[in-house]
Amino acid sequence: MNDAPDTVATRLAAIRAAIRLAEADHGRPPGSTTLVAVSKTFPAEVVRAALVAGQRVFGENYVQESKAKWPALREEFPDAEVHLIGPLQSNKAAEAVRLFDAIHSLDRESLAREIARQIDRQGRAPRLLVQVNTGDESQKAGVPVAGLPALLDLCRSALGLAVEGLMCIPPVDDPPSPHFALLARLARDHGLRSLSMGMSADFGAAIQLGATHVRIGSAIFGARGPRA
Ligand SMILES: *Cc1c(COP(=O)(O)O)cnc(C)c1O
Repeated sequence: MNDAPDTVATRLAAIRAAIRLAEADHGRPPGSTTLVAVSKTFPAEVVRAALVAGQRVFGENYVQESKAKWPALREEFPDAEVHLIGPLQSNKAAEAVRLFDAIHSLDRESLAREIARQIDRQGRAPRLLVQVNTGDESQKAGVPVAGLPALLDLCRSALGLAVEGLMCIPPVDDPPSPHFALLARLARDHGLRSLSMGMSADFGAAIQLGATHVRIGSAIFGARGPRA
């Protein structure tokens, strides 16, 4: 699990090349896809290897882990960006607003209200993406497709939150492309510019369908332990 730094750098270079190739293949402008390197469960020295290799945007799933890992890394690399991509409990919203540059997992009214309250209180505003449960899976995070208009309306009108885009995680057993296409259509319908979709196994399809952020973990850092 502790890959040598040169291995992380090598994998990172290969993923960057694959992203550029997918952009070219699908008529997307070069550089229109941001690589979010998903470093959850990996220790600071592994993340540091990616930073040294020039990676600047990272994804984390857990507030407590990020709190332990990132302050020192940020001191060394002040231009690093950390995005929360995992589910967020409302009682951790204060810490999340303090820690992260973007939150991809806004998915319900109570959380939107708490994030808005914390932004007011802290005077610091992470960029926000709404996670959509495109497969309408019962246990999965994300607002149901039918609930998206009301949640966006609440964020924009009542709470004054600037939602930047949408995020999805397709059901594991489904082909991902229909979910990516649905998310792209929803973003278009609602005038949202960012699309966080695509992981190690399917980022090419996501780029084809308009992803602006691909979240790639294992293809860069290697296999994770059982927790994630
Ligand atoms: C862990 C995780 C990823 C990265 O998955 P890989 O298959 O390792 O690339 C992407 N998005 C979310 C929301 C995740 O939790």
